[in-house]
Amino acid sequence: MTPTPHPAPHPADAAPPEPRQPDLPRQAATPVPPRRLAELRGGPDVPQRPMDARALAALAANPGCRRRALLDGAGVDKGAVAQALGSPAPFGQSQFAFIRGNAFEARVKADGGEALLALLCEHTGEARPDPGEAAAPDLAADGPAGRAARTRLALAEAAAVGGWTLLDHPMLTLEVAGTTAYLEPDALAVHPDGHVSIIEIKSFPILDGSADPAKVGAAARQAAVYALALQEFGDGAPQEFGDVAGEEEHPAAEQRPAVRERPTVRERALLVCPEDFSNNPAAGLLDLRKQIATTRRQLARLTHVEEIAAELPEGVHFAPTQDQPSLTAAVESVPADYAPECLSTCELAFHCRERARSRGAVAALGRSVRGELGGLTTVTQVLTAAAPPAASPAPEAEVEAEAALDPAATALRRAAALRAEALREAEALREAEALREAEALREAEALREAEALGETGAAPEAAAAQESDDVAVTGPGPGAGGGVRSCR
Ligand code: SF4
Repeated sequence: MTPTPHPAPHPADAAPPEPRQPDLPRQAATPVPPRRLAELRGGPDVPQRPMDARALAALAANPGCRRRALLDGAGVDKGAVAQALGSPAPFGQSQFAFIRGNAFEARVKADGGEALLALLCEHTGEARPDPGEAAAPDLAADGPAGRAARTRLALAEAAAVGGWTLLDHPMLTLEVAGTTAYLEPDALAVHPDGHVSIIEIKSFPILDGSADPAKVGAAARQAAVYALALQEFGDGAPQEFGDVAGEEEHPAAEQRPAVRERPTVRERALLVCPEDFSNNPAAGLLDLRKQIATTRRQLARLTHVEEIAAELPEGVHFAPTQDQPSLTAAVESVPADYAPECLSTCELAFHCRERARSRGAVAALGRSVRGELGGLTTVTQVLTAAAPPAASPAPEAEVEAEAALDPAATALRRAAALRAEALREAEALREAEALREAEALREAEALREAEALGETGAAPEAAAAQESDDVAVTGPGPGAGGGVRSCR
């Protein structure tokens, strides 16, 4: 097989990896009661929208948004809520991309995963397994919890038995802000040494050896969530194999101690994409170290769903079927943290952006702007802080006094003064330039007039004038009565 090009890394992914972070203390693992989550969705009949790795990665990218944390944690369909609010966002994978992705994945897995393992070995330098050598355990079970238990069992068995194992669409779990997220990677490969590699299959192409950096970055963030789930493998797992139907007969039942061990996850995931414009798979390794550290840190910062829900007014829920004013009030009762990045990651982005703009929030201008402005959170505060003290309106005095304490306000005022000075200098330069131009125009006009006079017969007069310049001086000469002497 020809060497497969590596996809171009996302700029953020290309940065040097952070040193391995010690595990942050996870938040209280007490899950929010399902009944409370159902209440938040609007009742037991409202279906729960499962949280997937894509949503978790987006959540980790904006850990300060309590609104998203609550709605995702409760399994609220944010797309339906945005639609009911009148601000639907064109968000998510198109149906065409979805179908194409499924077709490509089915194609690369059609041989039982041999091509996937061959691509993996090609990039890790390991010997590829012979056809039929890799195990492919059945992970079917009732519900996500059953499938997650099956996956744990299969991972434990694979590590205990050795050899290659490919898990097709396993189910992993991760406790996030008090709720359990069920995550489904495209595939996991267990190496003969017991290590686990994450395999992500995407439908975007690798063209001439590189892929869209933004899409590669998103795939890396998703894979990092799977890696975190695998690293926390065993937490909350059933204590006994018997928790899963039929496990008594499973040959791995004798390997119980292995189930409690966390698998060693390789921090380089295999990304498989169509090569150029064909349906042939091409692959590259994604370095997940930075993404894992960042995602772990961000998820640990998420506020517990129960804590956010406790601050809601009595009876508030997020059913999209309620009347629009009630739904708007419910959504607005949870603080949000809008940033332009929300436009590509959250269904509520248009609603939150409109609210942020109407409040004049500087966050709507981007995180870098917000960071530069420190404690100044609205455009009004910024303009007030930038204005000279004498120009500050009296009602804003209080804001100004606060702003004066802020280094950002000092910098703004200094910048405003420099700008005013620069404008004054520019105005003075413009006026001087205008004067110079007017003078030059006058001189040119005078010259044209003089030339015009010369062309219309003024030559004799000019000669006369010339002669008159040759001043005749009369005076006593050597002869009688003197003579004429030129004093030219
Ligand atoms: S769009 Fe709104 S709810 Fe979604 S993450 Fe951004 S601020 Fe939070």
